[in-house]
Amino acid sequence: MRQKIVAGNWKMNKDAESAQSLASEVVNMVKDEVTSEVTVVMAPPFPFLSSTQRQIGDAAQVFLGAQNCYPKDSGAYTGEVSVPMLKSVGVTYVILGHSERREYFGEKDATIADKVDAVLAGGLVPIYCCGESLETREANDHEAFVSGQLDRELFHLDAEAIKKVVIAYEPIWAIGTGKTASPEQAQEMHATLRNHLAKKYGSEVANAISILYGGSVKPDNAAEIFAKPDVDGGLIGGASLKSRDFLEIVKAL
Ligand code: PGA
Repeated sequence: MRQKIVAGNWKMNKDAESAQSLASEVVNMVKDEVTSEVTVVMAPPFPFLSSTQRQIGDAAQVFLGAQNCYPKDSGAYTGEVSVPMLKSVGVTYVILGHSERREYFGEKDATIADKVDAVLAGGLVPIYCCGESLETREANDHEAFVSGQLDRELFHLDAEAIKKVVIAYEPIWAIGTGKTASPEQAQEMHATLRNHLAKKYGSEVANAISILYGGSVKPDNAAEIFAKPDVDGGLIGGASLKSRDFLEIVKAL
């Protein structure tokens, strides 16, 4: 059985007070309403990590995530945040390779691979994001493109290491656009990724890796996407900013 995960990527939203209320609402709702074994992750901006962790407290199913990290432990890297720092405030999951990091901050394959290594070396869990642009999909190159991202950014890992990675497939054309991949499109790509993993690492390893879908997941489309056999949960942007919507998505899983 693969781990089922719903992770909320708050991106650059909220302030100290509203972050704290969102975190507390989510934790309480999960405690009261979620009986299945879904892992819930909240990934707030860096300044709100500690207060979010305080809200999480001893809630068994809810974990703290970060949205980025720098792949050095410490030193003269003004403005950056390291894996040991994240660990020291209670972070378990780190989102890496998000298309917004790639597009606006110029993150390239080698940087993303280094970050994956740093997160694993620190004993945290990468939520590694991949996904194609609309142009690539329209050219029918999407499967080769996303497989190539895995080749360059993850496939330097050995089998033991890659089993610890959570993959999030996020077609760029579906992020924040309200245009979600159809459940069939999601399933097709997730199966492609799993086959690609199986070719390199064998099917036992490939079948152990959780692959999340991300891109305009909402309470009203989550259940049909999550019903697909190779979809193990979701990475949620916009809809993670409202506790009720986020909870409905968690319950859909
Ligand atoms: P969205 O974002 O749910 O707002 O489309 C998803 C993501 O970028 O992780």
